Amino acid sequence: MSKPFTSPIKTVEAIPELRTLIQAQRKQDASIGFVPTMGALHVGHVSLIEAARQDCDFVAVSIFVNPTQFGPNEDFDNYPRLLAEDLEQCQTAGADLVWIPTTEVMYPPHFSTYVEVKTLSQILEGATRTDHFQGVTTIVTKLLLSCLPDKAFFGAKDYQQQAIIRQMCLDLNIPVEIKTCPTIRDTNGLALSSRNAYLSEAEHESALSLSRTLNLAKEKIEAGETNLNHIKTEMQQLLEETPLVKLDYATIVDAQTLEELTTPQPEMVVLVAAFVGATRLIDNCLLNSASAH
Ligand code: AMP
Repeated sequence: MSKPFTSPIKTVEAIPELRTLIQAQRKQDASIGFVPTMGALHVGHVSLIEAARQDCDFVAVSIFVNPTQFGPNEDFDNYPRLLAEDLEQCQTAGADLVWIPTTEVMYPPHFSTYVEVKTLSQILEGATRTDHFQGVTTIVTKLLLSCLPDKAFFGAKDYQQQAIIRQMCLDLNIPVEIKTCPTIRDTNGLALSSRNAYLSEAEHESALSLSRTLNLAKEKIEAGETNLNHIKTEMQQLLEETPLVKLDYATIVDAQTLEELTTPQPEMVVLVAAFVGATRLIDNCLLNSASAH
């Protein structure tokens, strides 16, 4: 159960109040950094807030578990909600303001406009989670237009998501600079995720196979292997042989277009997605020419 709400950090729910507070900062020439989250904050989220703190004068964080990005059989109802702990983490990481809109604020009655980035949203995560990215791009547009920050901070952990959001801001002329921050991992290499809380001890052990798979690909490429199909097969085998793991995809793609590659090129991303027990996890690793040689 969530702790009572005791943190002294400033919180706001309604969009007009958020805008008033941000405008007051702008009048003082403060640069605005924004970190959108779904709460259940961990050190990965904290690293984004700290990056915003370093880069901007005023840092706003949003906490909103966005219903439109969850599929009908996904974990929206069970998604961890830990507001009091989240506020403490925002405070400690140096945020100035936490925006906690309700579902009614973001999706009032008669809501009927959705934002869709075609092509990039239909592959990889979008192949099985069909409406997921439309939910993400719709909510991120609304969050950015409500807050109007100078810079918004996203995690490389969700590589496809940040690529889609960059494309969306470019296409829609949303005047926000998108910053992508490195993936934070636990000491065993597991990428931090709010969903790791669902994992049993045995599942946690099995989940380490995701980052091992990325390391395998990285090592092969660094050793000079040029047949990426061989590497993909080995990645898939490693995941398929791990108990409790059900592979979705393990692939190597172009870092910009996210198109699948068969031969190395200067900027590639190795991406994996798998169910570990009932929990769907993703991870990735960016490889550029510097790391590939
Ligand atoms: P979420 O609350 O899962 O929607 O994530 C909010 C932001 O935190 C997104 O930009 C994520 O990419 C980022 N994030 C999640 N996990 C990590 C991590 N392990 N390291 C860095 N950023 C992360």
